[in-house]
Amino acid sequence: MPLWRQPLDKDRILITHGIVHIIDDRCKGCGFCIEFCPQGTLGISDRTNTKGYHPPRVIEENLCVNCGLCTLLCPDFAIYIEDGGKQTPGLIHPVQRNEVKK
Ligand code: SF4
Ligand code: SF4
Repeated sequence: MPLWRQPLDKDRILITHGIVHIIDDRCKGCGFCIEFCPQGTLGISDRTNTKGYHPPRVIEENLCVNCGLCTLLCPDFAIYIEDGGKQTPGLIHPVQRNEVKK
């Protein structure tokens, strides 16, 4: 859903960008990084690591805002982020929240 209000200085603002690194063989496929990334940057890959799990993959590189949440959540230190400098907010999608089912 697009935001109907945009900051007037949106074109002059730059936000952080992260480059995602995944260490496939450390991953146990728990999916925490995929589930909780606020930008929806990650998805399950078709690759299989040496433990037989499917590590995450980067769906769209420009979505990562270097928040570091995936690195904090990963129980096996299998994902880390490199500072990718700045990018324009036009590439950023608003956070989507799942509807709570009653
Ligand atoms: S650093 Fe943040 S935005 Fe980037 S992949 Fe990890 S959780 Fe998603
Ligand atoms: S949080 Fe870590 S162990 Fe879990 S799927 Fe992501 S990279 Fe793999």
